[in-house]
Amino acid sequence: MFHLDDVTLIYDIDKTNKVYAIKNITTTFPDHGLIGIIGPSGSGKSTLMYCMSTLKKPTCGEILYQEKDIAISYTNMSKKDQEQLRKSKFGFVFQRHFLISYMSALENVIVAANCSKGEAMSRAKELLQKLGIKQSEFSKKPHQLSGGQRQRIAIARAMLHEPSVLFADEPTASLDHTTAFATMDLLLEYAKKHLVLIITHDGSILKDADQIIEIWDGSILDREATI
Ligand code: ADP
Ligand code: ADP
Repeated sequence: MFHLDDVTLIYDIDKTNKVYAIKNITTTFPDHGLIGIIGPSGSGKSTLMYCMSTLKKPTCGEILYQEKDIAISYTNMSKKDQEQLRKSKFGFVFQRHFLISYMSALENVIVAANCSKGEAMSRAKELLQKLGIKQSEFSKKPHQLSGGQRQRIAIARAMLHEPSVLFADEPTASLDHTTAFATMDLLLEYAKKHLVLIITHDGSILKDADQIIEIWDGSILDREATI
């Protein structure tokens, strides 16, 4: 479903200083399954995810999603088409959650819904419940909730429109052990029919992952990753 062919992204710090954030990455991702991306800080994990999700444009290389090159470097895919692709097919969980401060937990989950409000509400409630958020918390504003609760609201928001691909950067970082595993169960369930890509420093949450790839200095290591 995803095929990356020789994808490189170079950051030009200044005229003489270049950072090869990812280098000649060639790989394929299936259309469903949970895939963990591990590697040291600065190794290129986020850059890889940003390129695959069209948030960053690789310096060179092709990124095919459903056989179409979605990296604007070589194709006619406009910014508008990319935005449409992200809205319809991709979901994002970032380390910073970007919740809207004056909206309730429930409103934050349905803020970008592309279905009827009634439908969005019932799906949002179901997701929040599965993520262990109590009904009494639905009407609270982000500042009245814990970091872990905010994290789960961001996850529910990302899943609301049932994206084909869910990109998650440290989705369990601010969760306690029990909640982290409950969240992983939900993501694993979701990954039976969708692709879930997770960047993490915590290998223990990937024990049931379908695949783990390890990135080192901008390249995918050519060996089975161990956690
Ligand atoms: P992570 O915690 O996932 O490793 P980082 O803290 O490395 O993420 O990066 C956070 C943000 O800062 C990202 O959006 C990244 O693009 C940006 N960033 C990282 N390194 C640099 C840098 N050397 N110069 C400018 N921006 C950077
Ligand atoms: P990771 O997610 O594994 O921590 P990143 O993809 O954030 O790694 O970063 C890969 C490399 O690119 C690092 O050396 C980082 O400092 C650099 N980098 C990331 N974002 C930027 C940016 N916006 N400008 C310059 N350098 C960056």
